Amino acid sequence: MATDHPKDPISRRGFLRLSSVALLGTGLLAEAPAAEPAPSAENAVNPPDASIGRIALEEHFAIPETLDNSYAVKDLPSPEAKDKLLDVGSGRIAEMDRGGVEVAILSLVAPGIQAIPDVTQAIDTARRANDYLAEHLAKNPKRLKGFAALPLQDPQLAARELTRCIKELGFAGTLVNGFSQVGDADSAVYYDLPQYRPFWAMVQELDVPFYLHPRAPLPTRQQAYEGHAWLVGSTWGFAAETSIHALRLMGSGLFDDYPKLKIILGHLGEGIPFNIWRVDHRIKMGTLAPKPKAKLPIAHYLRENFYITTSGNFRTQALTDVIQEVGSDRVLYSVDYPLEDMIEAKEWFDQAAISETDRARIGRANAQKLFRL
Ligand code: MN
Repeated sequence: MATDHPKDPISRRGFLRLSSVALLGTGLLAEAPAAEPAPSAENAVNPPDASIGRIALEEHFAIPETLDNSYAVKDLPSPEAKDKLLDVGSGRIAEMDRGGVEVAILSLVAPGIQAIPDVTQAIDTARRANDYLAEHLAKNPKRLKGFAALPLQDPQLAARELTRCIKELGFAGTLVNGFSQVGDADSAVYYDLPQYRPFWAMVQELDVPFYLHPRAPLPTRQQAYEGHAWLVGSTWGFAAETSIHALRLMGSGLFDDYPKLKIILGHLGEGIPFNIWRVDHRIKMGTLAPKPKAKLPIAHYLRENFYITTSGNFRTQALTDVIQEVGSDRVLYSVDYPLEDMIEAKEWFDQAAISETDRARIGRANAQKLFRL
């Protein structure tokens, strides 16, 4: 794949200048370099060029029938928002070029299939979204990959649809937007429940990642947010909802039964890495609450079964915490386009005060390994 990436959108000189700024920011360079070094054979290989060929995996698209209920349209009131979401062709690729992203793994924008309580409709819409995506991936197979949308309202049919998407459509895994409403609009079904074990068995057998993407809590379950509607969505409610779902999976013993499962969390881990020590500390100390069913500390599963992306959380302090908790080989670059800006993500990540080795791993190498790209 390294041979077919597009022309480097950032010049070597620009990259070195950005690196120098980052070093100045950390105090590692006492003063600005007098002149940019001339290109040389040595510069061409060392340090590793972490500025090109990134792989991003929380990048969203929409089909017309899920567009209007998507958070993206509510969050992005600009008239271009819909166009950007619907574009799975040249406009998106041009943005990727500007953002230094060689490969984007696309997924149906939240809440997508999970917010369709009618099970038959959920199944039909998932199939249509997946077929539509496959059709467009085929036009740019080197730049665009896909995550399956799944009707988890029916675990058996979701397993079947995932199998079809992996084996017939060549998708890279699945991205699911949190709990599913099943039958009744006022229902929230989480995937640690026993009826999902056969589904998870299939995910493990197919050996593909499962991206647990946020959705907002249902209107009837938002008492804590009353009078503060600004908190419900991507500001805080997404992370609260998704972190609880992920902790339910970890605590349920799911990963004792299926130890090879690979779950991805966005937004630098939805707050879990920052709080993981306390979770296990209170489980160990606490006597009032029943303990989780899982056999090992929760942190064990976070480090063995989870991967974390930078989507929509462009903050070096938080990234550093994640790297220290789970290791840089479990962190992957992502943007969250078009809810986030490719250039803002790129400019942050290019200059974040991390090692060039970590920048190369997070920007590309970890995703290459995880998705066998
Ligand atoms: Mn997203």
